[in-house]
Amino acid sequence: MKKRKYIFLTGGVVSSLGKGIACSSLGFLLKSRGYKVTILKLDPYINVDPGTMSPYQHGEVYVTDDGAETDLDLGHYERFLDISMTRDNNTTAGQIYYEVIQKERRGDYLGATVQVIPHITDAINEKILSVGKKTNVDIVIVEIGGTVGDIESQPFLEAIRQFRLKLPADDTLVVHLTLVPYIAGANELKTKPTQHSVMRLREIGLQPDMLLCRTDRPLPDNVKQKIGLFCNVSANEVIDALDVSLIYEVPLQYAKVKFDELILNKLRLEKRKLNIEEWRNKVERYQKVDRTITIAVCGKYVELHDAYKSIMAAFEHAGMENDVRVKLKWINTEEITEKNVAQELSDVSGILVPGGFGERGIEGKLFAIRYARENKIPFFGICLGLQCAVIEYTRNVLGKKDANSTEFDPNTTNPVIHLMETQKSVKRMGGTMRLGSYPCKLRTGTKAHKAYGKLEIAERHRHRYEFNNSYRLELEEAGMIISGLSPDGDLVEMIELEDHPWFVGCQFHPELKSRVARAHPLFRDFVAASLEYGK
Ligand code: GLN
Repeated sequence: MKKRKYIFLTGGVVSSLGKGIACSSLGFLLKSRGYKVTILKLDPYINVDPGTMSPYQHGEVYVTDDGAETDLDLGHYERFLDISMTRDNNTTAGQIYYEVIQKERRGDYLGATVQVIPHITDAINEKILSVGKKTNVDIVIVEIGGTVGDIESQPFLEAIRQFRLKLPADDTLVVHLTLVPYIAGANELKTKPTQHSVMRLREIGLQPDMLLCRTDRPLPDNVKQKIGLFCNVSANEVIDALDVSLIYEVPLQYAKVKFDELILNKLRLEKRKLNIEEWRNKVERYQKVDRTITIAVCGKYVELHDAYKSIMAAFEHAGMENDVRVKLKWINTEEITEKNVAQELSDVSGILVPGGFGERGIEGKLFAIRYARENKIPFFGICLGLQCAVIEYTRNVLGKKDANSTEFDPNTTNPVIHLMETQKSVKRMGGTMRLGSYPCKLRTGTKAHKAYGKLEIAERHRHRYEFNNSYRLELEEAGMIISGLSPDGDLVEMIELEDHPWFVGCQFHPELKSRVARAHPLFRDFVAASLEYGK
């Protein structure tokens, strides 16, 4: 049997230190040394998955090929490691408790009192073992959500303590990510928050093997020694995680301070050759790019960029391939009117309407789409964005002024977007949308075909409503091209316009499959068309 290694990454002091990027960057470096790696995210909240949470609470819901609604950190993992995750790569406390309670109801515990220790902790450890086994990797990185000291994350930390007991010492590692702030008044880097955070970790019986310290300047040796002394590690196990301007620099910075080498040493893994030149070249080239274009993102959660994490990443990847920096202009469509739309969009080279739910802000989206269509500004509509483009066309080109989606007006006489047949019997909320990867056939000679360079694609979905086929013929006669269909020809997956430089809508979420190594073809071509328009 393969000897598998486990790296646990915990976070301390404050949230938002970038545990997801840290795991992704480390994973990328280990993969670049020829190791097979996967990452598991453990989320301490009680929701079974983030699918039912508001974007204000949780940011984006990241959908995997197998249709799981997961934490947005899985997006970072996929983008950095260039591998596809599954529902096994994300577990929440809610999922663990749910499974344990179901087992209890079946009588599987044979009369035992069901407790956090050992039943919940065993179930957590089962998940960690199982993702490694299923993916047959050399190394499993486990990211523990939340901050050490939270009541919620205690069972997870306890589970890890037990997990480590069962394996030889050099098969597991705990890396603790902390913050070492610089206090200007004292002209000093402060180590106390790190000391306290490690204290909390040690209280539960977890001694970190390494500290990864977020800092805005390199840690001098005396600071590393002090942290080491108080936290019971050696100074060389205190690693600088320097602030960088671009997240893609993080792996390069880790490689520079030999973080990955130290990890391999401690796990007693062979130091294979590191192969990151392609990544380095890409990042360095992008850093030198000096032209910029502005693209409008017309959505609802615009003050909350976490809701559009993958879209932002996809634009970065597309920018890298087009040698341009894409500046996003966030437009709250609740504030867009027929009067101000031209002014609000006068300085942009492209207009994107992303996915979303609910009626709020829809009319503003329709004004933005009309503006893009009539002024021949490149337009990209994703999921709700496609649905709105179809509504706009039906209203303003076919002249059916009350056309709508039944999501927003159940009584419209022109339900050009309506509930999918398979959704009509759905009563429960969690995990019941049309989710995950489905195949799609493209029409020859369309912009979609040109972008993908092939006719058969598969993309990820998360929706309940769809294009109403009763309007297909009329819309096609009026110049709308149905450029992508489900293989049985029943579901409209992509649309575009004949008489427009680049007006494309898709029912799926292409942003979920964009990678640093490979920009998504639709984002790449949308950015290229926007560049062309900008000229
Ligand atoms: N609200 C729409 C639907 O459920 C669009 C969903 C989305 O944009 N992800 O079909």
